[in-house]
Formats: sequence, structure tokens, C-alpha cells
Amino acid sequence: MNTFSIAIHGGAGTLVKGMMTPELEAKYRSDLKAALDQGYAILNEGGTAVDAVEVAVKILENSPLFNAGKGSVFTASESHEMDASIMDGKTLNAGAVSLISGIKNPVSLARDVMEKSEHVFLAGEGAMQFAKELNYTLESDAYFFDKFRHQQWLEIKDTDSFQLDHSTKKDSKFGTVGAVACDQNGNIAAATSTGGMTNKKWGRVGDSPMIGAGNYANNNTCAISCTGSGEFFIRGVVAYDVACLMEHKGMSLKAASEEVINKRILDIGGDGGLIAVDTKGNIEMPFNTEGMYRASKTSKGEEEISIYS
Ligand code: ASP
Repeated sequence: MNTFSIAIHGGAGTLVKGMMTPELEAKYRSDLKAALDQGYAILNEGGTAVDAVEVAVKILENSPLFNAGKGSVFTASESHEMDASIMDGKTLNAGAVSLISGIKNPVSLARDVMEKSEHVFLAGEGAMQFAKELNYTLESDAYFFDKFRHQQWLEIKDTDSFQLDHSTKKDSKFGTVGAVACDQNGNIAAATSTGGMTNKKWGRVGDSPMIGAGNYANNNTCAISCTGSGEFFIRGVVAYDVACLMEHKGMSLKAASEEVINKRILDIGGDGGLIAVDTKGNIEMPFNTEGMYRASKTSKGEEEISIYS
């Protein structure tokens, strides 16, 4: 049987150790563990990598601690606009949504785009119309309201700045979320979900829903989910760049993902990290920031839940 494995992240960024209370850290770890365990359970029962990444991301979206689904940051107009994507490395099928609101689990809508439409990427009103036709129920604003996120927004709302939810030194509550997995048949998949950046406007879209930038999966190489300054990750075509280095330069998963995060994206000014898996179940989780909420588990019995480097 193929080694099977899963890795998840809850965002990379400025993490000041002293700002985190033991209670808060315990909560992060327990939500990461819940997502990891449920994703792993699917793989353990012989389920697909696509199912595992969707389930893991849904659990992180349901946690108010991470900047996705329930914990999404506020836009300049005091609303929430969420982005998500999913890709199946076996078929190269992919689905993505952007600028959606009221949807509890954006990753599931991205999966529906992949499986129930002829398209790859639906955005804004059209994506909401698609959700309506599939009978998605909409959550109220109250479901997505979070005092901390609102405070983050109040601090910069009258300025032109927009920020990563994890770039503040004041607190360490942040995190776009993602998952990558390799199943028992050696098929891999990746999923990513985010609320984007605090105070974003003009329909700003980051890397998370962009296939090849924030998310990518291909059984020939690897499955990748990114987190960090989206503008740079788009310009660096980061997720696909890792796959390209493996395919065209024959690099290992480790060498390729480290080259991209610790060199190529840094060279253009980007900060963040990624999680990666290949069809042998190998996992890499490099980041060039102070920390990245991350966890991984393999069928060889290895398990890790970490925040700092
Ligand atoms: N990459 C995301 C974006 O730019 C943000 C993040 O990873 O936290 O929308």
C-alpha cells in the first residue's frame, strides 16, 4: 500500500511568541488537530485525497480562529468576500470561487464548481447564483462577525492600507487555510480557502483561488497549498513553480518547495509559506515568516502540529 499522508495550514506570518497565551495556543492546536484527524481518517478508510482535503479545510473554515469561512476578515466596505479553490491531481480537474459571501464552506462551493459545472472559476454574483441554484443556504452577517477581526478593520478602515490578517504585531490570530493529501492509491489533491486581506477593496482577489498560484495538484509532481502576501504569490505563480522545478529540473519535493519559498518568492519581496505533498506521501511545509500554523500526519505514524519555526 502507498504511504498516505495529509498536511494542513492555517496561515503563515508574523507570529510573536509572547503575544500568544497558552489558552489560545491550545485552541489553535486543538482545531488544527481536529482538521488533521478528520482528513486523515478519510485516507485511513480508503477515501480519496479530494475528500480528505475538503473535509480538513471545512473544519478550519468552521473555526473562528482562522481567516477563512467563519473567521474571515473584513473588507473596506465592512463585509466579507471569500475565495477558495480545490484541485484533483489525478484528473487535473479544478474548481474555484472568488468574492463570495454568506457561504459557510467556500471550499465545498469550489468543489461543486469542479464537479457540477463546465467551468473552473466562478466569481462574485455569478458564483452566488450558482450556489443558489444548488440550494446553498446563506449564513447571516452575524455568523461571520468576529470582534477581533472587526477591531483589526476599525484600525485601518479610513486608510488606503490593506493588510494580511497575520501581519499585525498585536495579536497572532490569523490564517488563510489549506490542505494537501496523498491517498492510498497515490492520488494527490490540494484545497485552499481564505477571507483575503483586511480592508481590501475594488474586488481584490489574492492567490488562494487561483489555480497555479495559491493552489495546485498534479499526480506527476505534487499538490501545493500556499499562504502569504497574495500579490507576490500570484506574480511568482508559486504553486505551479514548485511543480515545474520538480518536472523540468528533476528536483525533489523538498528541494523544489524550499527553493521557491526561501529564494524565488523572497527575491521578489513575498513572504509566506506553503504545504506540499507528493505521490509517495512525502510532506514539506516551508515558510519564510516567523511562523506558520501547520500540521501533518502520515501512515508511517509520523505526526506534527507546529506554529513557530
Ligand atoms: N494569500 C492570501 C491572500 O492574499 C492571504 C493569506 O494567505 O493569509 O488573499
